[in-house]
Amino acid sequence: MCGQPAVLLQRYSGAHLCGEHAQRSVEKRVTKEMARDKLRRGDVVVVAVSGGKDSVCALRFARRYLAPAGVEVRAVTVDEGIASYRPAGIEVAASHCKELDVPHEVVRDRDAFGVTMDEASQRLEGAAPCSPCGVFRRTLLNKAAREHGAARLVTGHNLDDLAQSVLMNVLRGDAARLARLGRHEARDGLVPRSTPLRMVPEREVALYAHLQGWAVHNEECPYAVLAQRRGVRDTLLELEEREPGTRHALVAFLDKVQPALAREPSLGAELRACLTCGEPTSGERCQACAMAERVRA
Ligand code: SF4
Repeated sequence: MCGQPAVLLQRYSGAHLCGEHAQRSVEKRVTKEMARDKLRRGDVVVVAVSGGKDSVCALRFARRYLAPAGVEVRAVTVDEGIASYRPAGIEVAASHCKELDVPHEVVRDRDAFGVTMDEASQRLEGAAPCSPCGVFRRTLLNKAAREHGAARLVTGHNLDDLAQSVLMNVLRGDAARLARLGRHEARDGLVPRSTPLRMVPEREVALYAHLQGWAVHNEECPYAVLAQRRGVRDTLLELEEREPGTRHALVAFLDKVQPALAREPSLGAELRACLTCGEPTSGERCQACAMAERVRA
């Protein structure tokens, strides 16, 4: 575009971009997504910040683009209780929040569910604790965002994350989860999500954070090698290599089918309060309470 040496080839678009244009390209997609949220002066957003590149970018973008428009930005980090991994991420998250003057809260699985993911892994006899970990994280983030009175819960999910989730749920035949993946409005105790990086591939998020010189927590969770998502990630990368644009196609598919799925009562469209904890659920007890019982036993 400008004759400068390229640092990125976007195979899905065919563009070779220099550092400056690679960053502008990310910013354009992020601001477009943020505009869809229609946030107003005085609104509060809570950003889920783990300290990894995606959430650091989400936090920095929220602070850069939303705060000047009068939106109050706050941050929440979930401490899953993974001793060899999480403390360093919390440190990175806290240091970005301090620099940006963003209020930062840490919420802990141990306090809310009486179990850490290290303990859960032992009770699951060494299997990955990713199922309880993901369910607990979603519950804690939604609860924290609601308690902060947030209009949106901002997460750092990128294009790869979203495309992997679509593929995983299609492969499992889990239409109910597919229905919950897309955009939704506030309802029955559920704070709507905002995913400003949803159209930006993971590699471009990493490049952006690197070019900006932002410190990020790059370690991988020790349980990630056991996670089912890893196989889906590798398959998707292979498909993308052969057929550039596959990730975009999966997200476009989600955007087409999700509004109809989200209205379907048999897929959990109706929410009620969990009989045990009061959090929103489509059944009588929420998944987090059922999981907590299983991994605490
Ligand atoms: Fe939790 Fe699994 Fe992610 Fe580790 S890899 S943080 S256990 S979901």
